[in-house]
Amino acid sequence: MKILVINSGSSSLKFQVIDSETEQVLARGVCERIGIDGIFTYKTSTGISIKESVPMQNHTQAVHTLLDTLVDPEKGIMKDFSDIDVIGHRLVHGGEKFSGSVVITDEVIQAMTECNDLAPLHNPANLVGVEACRKLMPNTLMAGVFDTAFNQTMEPKAFLYGLPYWCYEKHKIRRYGFHGISHKYVSQRAAEFMGQDPGRVKTIVCHLGNGASISAVKYGRVIDNSMGFTPLEGLVMGTRCGDVDPGALEYLAKKENLDFQQIMTILNQESGVLGISKNYSSDFRELKDAEIKYNEKAALAREIFAYKVAKYVGSYAAAMNGVDNIVFTAGVGENDSDIRQEICEYLGFLGITIDEVKNRERAEAVRISDGTSRVNVLVIRTNEELEIAREVAAVARKMGKQ
Ligand code: AMP
Repeated sequence: MKILVINSGSSSLKFQVIDSETEQVLARGVCERIGIDGIFTYKTSTGISIKESVPMQNHTQAVHTLLDTLVDPEKGIMKDFSDIDVIGHRLVHGGEKFSGSVVITDEVIQAMTECNDLAPLHNPANLVGVEACRKLMPNTLMAGVFDTAFNQTMEPKAFLYGLPYWCYEKHKIRRYGFHGISHKYVSQRAAEFMGQDPGRVKTIVCHLGNGASISAVKYGRVIDNSMGFTPLEGLVMGTRCGDVDPGALEYLAKKENLDFQQIMTILNQESGVLGISKNYSSDFRELKDAEIKYNEKAALAREIFAYKVAKYVGSYAAAMNGVDNIVFTAGVGENDSDIRQEICEYLGFLGITIDEVKNRERAEAVRISDGTSRVNVLVIRTNEELEIAREVAAVARKMGKQ
């Protein structure tokens, strides 16, 4: 089956066409600056590469652009749209309603719209992508894969806050956890790489990118995830604060005369390593360069980040009563060997020892712990698009598609 994977954000839309049998990426690209001007980037497995300005006033025009390119006689990879068997959408928040992938129907769109308040930055943008595809390819099967779904196996002891129970009953205020598509792919790939049965291992996945989260995956099921009701909780991130005492926010609001919206802007966009480094950068590469030049706040930002990751890993090892694999993934986790080294130094008590040469190796999957380490430490490149393609292929097969 040929699967078009769509990851639709507020002003960008990423896409890949994946052959589900060979798992080869036939084409990939991104429509950026939708609604502003429009930049279209596109690459195929046959060596075609394009980056050009294409006016895209809305997501429908973006989907138009990518579809037209996919069937273009010179740049394309298929004869017509009917060559696409299924469209798979990345959907961020499925609330408690969705614990797996689904065929997108009017009812699903309705249920997702009801979840919009839970993820106001992400869900509406996802739905715009869904609607654009429906308009242009009304007869093509569409399936959705939720970023919250893999985390739905968390038990109440992990997902409930210490708030009055009515907050959950009445408003579904609880921890949902995010990055589930990545945590699922990476935890399973780690077991496959190590020749283990995923149903018998305890894995901690550290998805460390601009947004960062950690999950505890026990015998193939998530038992905890560091993100909460929204993707703001947990680790210190690029621009997000992570865990913070709500009492401090009330104090700050009073002292600075700020309303809730202003406080949320600080927490989401002005905090994290960007805020700690006094606005130097949210990019870990730039922070590293600054640290080398004795920028104290940049060094502190990286130090706090690593410390917090180690604290979560330690607590998840306790939550699972042990750990077999610790996996680093996403932009920082895959590329920043110094941060990995720093985090692992805190974890010596788990019997972890790192092979410094392996830690600097770059590969799709690599074990960076040495032969004496009691826990396997791995670096695995995440592949959310492939995970989405796998899941929607399974949904399509259930619907009788071959
Ligand atoms: P992601 O959200 O997974 O795309 O990760 C993006 C982040 O990865 C960027 O903000 C960078 O801070 C970080 N990153 C990417 N490449 C490197 C690298 N070579 N070294 C350190 N950090 C990196």
